[in-house]
Parts: sequence; structure tokens; C-alpha cells
Amino acid sequence: MTTEHSRSALERLREYYDHEELICPECGYEDADGSWQSETDGDVVEYHHECPQCGAVRSHTLNVHED
Ligand SMILES: [Zn+2]
Repeated sequence: MTTEHSRSALERLREYYDHEELICPECGYEDADGSWQSETDGDVVEYHHECPQCGAVRSHTLNVHED
């Protein structure tokens, strides 16, 4: 087991999304090769993912300043 304390919370969250939230809640398709896209304006990071099968879009908005 390795724990990388140097990683930022945002990086860990992104890894969480990439690994745990690629199954579409609408149709159940697992986008195994996909990933969440991220955009930031400096204060918040918005992650979004579009299901390649049904087109459902999910998004998460994270406050950069939260620990
Ligand atoms: Zn879908």
C-alpha cells in the first residue's frame, strides 16, 4: 500500500472520478477509456463527463480553496 501525501486534494478527487465515476447513471455504460475533463477559472474547478453511449452529461464543481 502506498500513500502519497504530496498529492493535492484536487488530484485525489480527480483520480476518484476517473476510477469510480465512469459508469453512466443513465444507461449503465462504463466508459473505461474515458476520463473527466476539467476546467478552472482559478476559484473553482468544474469536472464534466459525457457518456459516449447516451450523451448524458455529469459535472462536479469543486472549490479550489477547500482543503
Ligand atoms: Zn449513458
